[in-house]
Amino acid sequence: MTTISPLIAGNWKMNGLTHSLDELSELARLLTTGEAPRALVVVCPPATLLAAVAAQGASSGIIAGGQDCHAQASGAHTGDISAGMLADAGAQYVIVGHSERRSDHGESSDTVRAKAEAAIGAGLKPIICVGETEAQRDAGDAEAIVATQLAASIPDAASLHEVIVAYEPVWAIGTGRTPTLDEIRDMHNAIRSRLVSRFGDDKGASIRILYGGSLKPQNAREILNVENVNGGLVGGASLLAKDFYTIISAV
Ligand code: PEP
Repeated sequence: MTTISPLIAGNWKMNGLTHSLDELSELARLLTTGEAPRALVVVCPPATLLAAVAAQGASSGIIAGGQDCHAQASGAHTGDISAGMLADAGAQYVIVGHSERRSDHGESSDTVRAKAEAAIGAGLKPIICVGETEAQRDAGDAEAIVATQLAASIPDAASLHEVIVAYEPVWAIGTGRTPTLDEIRDMHNAIRSRLVSRFGDDKGASIRILYGGSLKPQNAREILNVENVNGGLVGGASLLAKDFYTIISAV
């Protein structure tokens, strides 16, 4: 059986000024003075803080990641940032296809796949997000929606390169609501089956599947223990070092 080392990624979203690096210092202190974390720790700050997070996090094992990238390597795309730029600033991971990008910027799964390809091309590991809306779950379509997103969002290059999948039910993001443990297990098992049937027994069984959506210090232990949950993608609770550290320690 493949053993997958867990990964906990914090998504700061559009939050964070220079003084937020104090929180990163506090996280580094907790990670280096407490029990050694059993998970890889990734922090995805806004692009303005990426180089600082990469430099400051290095000594405590905190890895920097971007929150999005453009599918092109360079060009006339005002305000966008390429995967190569993220890597140049010290990122090793990048989130693509977050539901806020899909809804706020109309990103389709084809766009997400192109971004994931660009990330791989720049030497980054894409964290590819999928997840259903509440209406889709209520209609009984959650697994079908996620299967469609997976098929279209994950590039074929994933067979040779590291990618991470994050299952984030849209209705759980930032709401304080989470699926039941059975619902999380059923979805993660369904995702695992899809990965195995597309990429084969070895590769398909080795891809991390993170859970994201209102992961908090209070629920982290039980959610992170669910079968085929290989870590978490954490929004709000990653902004406070103490809360994020508690989630990391729950692995
Ligand atoms: C997210 O935005 O990826 C997320 C999981 O947010 P939150 O933890 O705040 O629900």
